[in-house]
Amino acid sequence: MSTGPRYRFAPSPTGMFHVGGARTALHNWALARQSGGTFVLRIEDTDEVRNRPEWTAGIIDALAWLGISADDPHFEGPLFQSEYAAAHLEAANRLFESGHAYYCDMTPDEIQDRAKAEGTTGYGGWSRDRGLGPAPGSVLRFKVPEGTTVVHDLVRGDVEFDHAVIEDFVLVRGNGTPVFILANVVDDMSMGITNVVRAEEHLPNTPKQQMLWQALGHEPPVWAHVPVLVNEQRKKLSKRRDKVALEQYRDEGFLADAMVNYLMTLGWSPGEQEIQPWSVMEQSFRLDDVNLSPAFFDLKKLAAFNGEYIRRLSVDELVDACDPWLPAEWDRAVFREMAPHIQPRLNTLADAPGVVDFLFLDEPDIDDDSWSKTMTTEYAQPLLADAIGAFETCAWDAATIKATLEDVMGRYDLKLGKAQAPVRVAVTGRTVGPPLFEALEVMGRDESLRRMRNALDRL
Ligand code: GLU
Repeated sequence: MSTGPRYRFAPSPTGMFHVGGARTALHNWALARQSGGTFVLRIEDTDEVRNRPEWTAGIIDALAWLGISADDPHFEGPLFQSEYAAAHLEAANRLFESGHAYYCDMTPDEIQDRAKAEGTTGYGGWSRDRGLGPAPGSVLRFKVPEGTTVVHDLVRGDVEFDHAVIEDFVLVRGNGTPVFILANVVDDMSMGITNVVRAEEHLPNTPKQQMLWQALGHEPPVWAHVPVLVNEQRKKLSKRRDKVALEQYRDEGFLADAMVNYLMTLGWSPGEQEIQPWSVMEQSFRLDDVNLSPAFFDLKKLAAFNGEYIRRLSVDELVDACDPWLPAEWDRAVFREMAPHIQPRLNTLADAPGVVDFLFLDEPDIDDDSWSKTMTTEYAQPLLADAIGAFETCAWDAATIKATLEDVMGRYDLKLGKAQAPVRVAVTGRTVGPPLFEALEVMGRDESLRRMRNALDRL
């Protein structure tokens, strides 16, 4: 076992795996690996109502997809918070015994009425000195001492919290279950966690957690809170409003490497060159260089990153990567021939079938709009007829097909774009698509001519 620092990633399996969580996981993974430390995966599965085993499986799969592999020697877990319930309650009891916590039997209504009567908000520590013991329905509260807590945060510097604004918070609910703040601290403690790197939204919990570490007789961990991710309207990414599920990006044909690289650029810059391999970022990532401001999760930029990563694939890699998106009956050898020609225009792997489907359909799927735009010109009919004639005998490679069409179009005083259009629609069914002459070459002379003749017959 490594003796280096111990980081952890502690997701709650209550939904699809959020891209913000994925970034936090990558931060912890990089830091654990660059320091020869450990990355503990702890599944915080204590919310019985919202947890589902499939979300846990989804998290583990998604982490593996990002390259955070359970087989790596730096990886430890998954550990499950639900298995440590006894330790949470044991710690709660110790806090009670040592006078750091007390029981309170006031109902929420009683608390509200009393707060109103006293002109305060929240709970005023009213059961502190009542000497109550545990009883069904009573909660255990932490006795927040007077003073301040300073959280040393590697991203934010020192953040000071005045205890006057922190009420005596609940540790154990009336039904006997520990709350998140306690379970999270006790697990970090018993798992020997030395560094907590997590999202900014947990910063308000941190002074309370630091007090718990101290009350339980331990040095708190090194804290770091990374900035939230926001959408185009600068609103925090939310699963109701935004596409936040990592799984969805995977299923839409984003490459893991592109996703990893893009996530790492959110709130941190890998250098002048933003496209960087993980092996470099894993070593160069530093919490001190993480920004304080919210990071814009820019879908356009993500697509551009993905396109760039797609362009860097070898043809074999591209064919393999596209495979899950292609219908089983499509001939992979034909796709392979076309693949280098579509590579420059793909932003996701899922775009691939729509760009090449004409090669595999019995007939091109020509919509009325494309037809009327290209076939109703006065030159369409004679040009197609001449092109068919010339294509019957020319050599069948993209360069010769192009030269042959250029020769034909000279007779009509047309530019290449205009001259290509009827041929493209006749063969591919669309007005835009992959490079035409390469497409014709891959399609083959016979099928290309058959489609062009069919179009001519329609005219
Ligand atoms: N289970 C918490 C969450 O998913 C983790 C908080 C933490 O990292 O301490 O938000």
